[in-house]
Amino acid sequence: MFVNRLLSVITSFFISAVCGLSIGASPATASPQELVVTEEDFKEERVYSPYAGRAYADQVFFGDMHFHTELSFDAGLIGTTLDAHDGYRMARGEKVISNTGQPVQLIRPLDFLVITDHAELMGLAPAIRESNPLLLSDPWGKWVYEKFNSGQEGRMAAFGSIIEKGTSGVNPFSSDELTRSIWGQFVRIAEGYNEPGRFTAMTGFEWSTTPDGDNLHRVVVFGDGAEKTSQTLPFSVFDSDDPQDLWKYLETYEDKTGGNAIAIPHNGNLSNGLMFSDKTRSGDPIDRAYAAARIRWEPIIEVSQVKGDGETHPLLSTEDEFADYETWDVGNLDGSAAKEEWMLQYEYGRSALKLGLKLGQELGVNPYKFGLSAATDTHTALATTREENFFGKYQHTEPSPDRHNRAVIPADDPALRILTSQEVASGLTAVWARENTREA
Ligand SMILES: [Zn+2]
Ligand SMILES: [Zn+2]
Repeated sequence: MFVNRLLSVITSFFISAVCGLSIGASPATASPQELVVTEEDFKEERVYSPYAGRAYADQVFFGDMHFHTELSFDAGLIGTTLDAHDGYRMARGEKVISNTGQPVQLIRPLDFLVITDHAELMGLAPAIRESNPLLLSDPWGKWVYEKFNSGQEGRMAAFGSIIEKGTSGVNPFSSDELTRSIWGQFVRIAEGYNEPGRFTAMTGFEWSTTPDGDNLHRVVVFGDGAEKTSQTLPFSVFDSDDPQDLWKYLETYEDKTGGNAIAIPHNGNLSNGLMFSDKTRSGDPIDRAYAAARIRWEPIIEVSQVKGDGETHPLLSTEDEFADYETWDVGNLDGSAAKEEWMLQYEYGRSALKLGLKLGQELGVNPYKFGLSAATDTHTALATTREENFFGKYQHTEPSPDRHNRAVIPADDPALRILTSQEVASGLTAVWARENTREA
């Protein structure tokens, strides 16, 4: 299968209607030769067509909106050394050297890239490598640093603590100083690669809530530069594991900075029935206010990426012969719970669109009237999306003779395991706009 199957064309939330000149209607009695445009014709009240003067989005741009570098703990601590510089450079078309020392380049450059490292423990790996003073001044940070550098046994203890803390909802750091420093550096790096009209370098992060191993992750994308994004910090599971709190964070960001941002859910297929439910995170039925907030802040969902396809499932689309494309349906994100058939309807894009129509009738607002996108979710800092040029999800699945049989989801129950051979060389997002800029 080729990535072309996955290119989901969306209308970008960044596209705002640009007002142009209104060409008014000429008097009906005038012959074509006598058509005259007068001052009066430009007055809005003389225009019948609501689209008169609309400046159409007339160009399509391709890019990746879900992308990890060494700043993500589940990348940087297991071998990814490429950083945001490498990610943007490669997306712009340059040759880079991969995490395993292999030269790699795209068949053609991307038009835009959003780097979205996990908010939780952002920058931990480079901070350990570089003996970052902000890490060493924190009690847990110092402990992790020392364990990590004390041989195999200590390293395993550090890993155990990092995984436990990273998923527990309790921030192990005593302050946000390290995060502030890492985030500030990152948003400034993006400025250096942003070239209006040629390449759009954007920033974001991933809110990585995984209750009981069920995936509720959202990627947050900012439409702004460092002047605004440096005024916030990534919102993590340490702040809240409820998407309604993430939406409040986005609202606060926009109110404070005048900027714009959205959240994009992904991998409903690994949520075990939670992602597109008819209930809130706390189990109450969705009400009108929830529906309005959800579609306000989540106007797009990511339906394809390396961890399987999220558009539909053969049991949901029984007459669609393509419905079994790259299906991951054995369990949840950490392989701790098996999939049950009732869950499927709440996990996939198409069934969510159907549920949204029903909820829209009942509530007056449809929470699932979303557009579709696709991304890589690469953890190698390499946005490779073609099978002949695919560098895998992690450093350990970069090209090698035995790359196919490693674990992506190393579940205790063999039936719930996912192997690297099941990774998908997916995908990109296409955006209609008038020019290749953050603002457009
Ligand atoms: Zn995720
Ligand atoms: Zn991700």
